[in-house]
Amino acid sequence: MADVLPRLEAELGEIVASDAETLDAHRHDSWMLADLMDLQGNPAPRPLAVVRARSADDVSRTLRLCRELSLPVIPFGGGSGVCGAVEASPEVLVLSTRGLDGLVSLDDESLTAAFRAGTMGGEAERIVQRDGLTIGHWPQSIELSTVGGWVATRAAGQYSTGYGSIEDMVLSLEAVLPDGSRLRTRPTPRASAGPDLRHLLMGSEGTLGVVTEVTFSLRPLPEASQGQVFHFPDLGSGLDPIRHVMRQGWRPPVVRLYDAPESHRHFGEWIDEDRAALVLLHEGPRALVDVELAAVAALCRDAGGVEADAAIVDHWLEHRNNVPSFRELLEAGLVVDTIEVGAVWERIGAVYDAVIGSLLEVPSIRSATAHSSHSYRSGTNLYFTFVARPGDRAEMADVYRECWRRAVEATLEQGGGIAHHHGIGRVRRDFLAREIGEGGVAVLRAVKAALDPQGLLNPGALLPER
Ligand SMILES: Cc1cc2nc3c(=O)[nH]c(=O)nc-3n(C[C@H](O)[C@H](O)[C@H](O)COP(=O)(O)OP(=O)(O)OC[C@H]3O[C@@H](n4cnc5c(N)ncnc54)[C@H](O)[C@@H]3O)c2cc1C
Repeated sequence: MADVLPRLEAELGEIVASDAETLDAHRHDSWMLADLMDLQGNPAPRPLAVVRARSADDVSRTLRLCRELSLPVIPFGGGSGVCGAVEASPEVLVLSTRGLDGLVSLDDESLTAAFRAGTMGGEAERIVQRDGLTIGHWPQSIELSTVGGWVATRAAGQYSTGYGSIEDMVLSLEAVLPDGSRLRTRPTPRASAGPDLRHLLMGSEGTLGVVTEVTFSLRPLPEASQGQVFHFPDLGSGLDPIRHVMRQGWRPPVVRLYDAPESHRHFGEWIDEDRAALVLLHEGPRALVDVELAAVAALCRDAGGVEADAAIVDHWLEHRNNVPSFRELLEAGLVVDTIEVGAVWERIGAVYDAVIGSLLEVPSIRSATAHSSHSYRSGTNLYFTFVARPGDRAEMADVYRECWRRAVEATLEQGGGIAHHHGIGRVRRDFLAREIGEGGVAVLRAVKAALDPQGLLNPGALLPER
């Protein structure tokens, strides 16, 4: 390793950084367990160096050199991933895409905008909004994540029920493959030209290539936007009207149903305890919004829903991107995390009951709650939050893993899918074969071996260890 850094510096020049501050900032992503390890005096090590790519050419040169040096390399966007997909060591190089940012082109007629992959999400959205357009992708982490990271993790935003998730928005992309060559898909509205290569990169978590440019299919900013809120006796009775909304073809961008403890936590000022709040936001041409508001309200009332103060919608809009300080909770001895899963309508109630029931059996658990925030004709997701407080702080990591194991096992047993939008990383990789089958893992390994025979791109993420 001693001669690798000088070689990187000689070949790549000023884009190589090895100062302590930069290395520290690229040790891991925002995985709760990594933060806990930091706090408990067992921090993830620093990488060997960080390359700050400014162009796709920089990425190509870096990957070619890494291949020649047999040096593992981890792509790094905003570092907001929450599954441990980034974990450095002194034997790896981190390749930051943050210098690879900015708008490449905007076509108002075709409603497309191309961005370099390291553009921060909020910045990309502000740029298209200047022209009265929107990407429509609103992850809570919009100010913390890059557009390339959205692709690499198969992300979903808060408005996904109406506007779709990242796979519905990416018209085309460019990536640099592990041998330094470029893959570029054509920006056409649809193609029947073999398997869709965009999907090779979506969700690949930096293991198959580095996304360098993303072209989005945009939409105009809506003429009207109006919310409404209903409350129900419990989460189960609120799910049914959502199913009918989706089935009938209404598409409110925001459809969020909180179980009673979460409703109380977020909207206690307006909603009685023991009620489940359904927050809806309707957007589009005014006439369409009016019709949808009325139709969805009727479905909610038919299902026993009671209308609540629409001020809840404004409250949600105002606070929706607030990031809780998980670090403070960890410092206070609380083990906390969120786990998002999905299931078809017929299974979703069973998944909710099984996961909450299993989490509540953890001896030190303080709370286990959930909401549904991304709905489809076929089903919806559940976003669980658990909080535990082990008596002995030395047990925090074990309790964390136990909560995850229980939630994932219970989801699988009830027929759900284990990862709705945060990805696999390290926290779920040992469950991947149960999600996609041993055959599915074998296909991924074969693709990986073909593109990256030395296994240099983000080793340890996504694929289970052999
Ligand atoms: C407070 C908070 C709220 C969140 N809310 C949401 C949400 O609403 N919806 C949601 O989907 N997610 C959410 N996330 C998770 C996270 O923001 C997403 O996974 C996001 O897409 C990651 O983007 P990033 O640029 O930060 O990627 P990083 O964390 O830097 O990287 C994530 C993975 O992608 C790879 N990668 C990054 N950039 C590239 C690239 N250009 N090419 C190839 N691989 C790359 C990395 O190697 C890594 O494997 C949230 C996270 C936090 C901390």
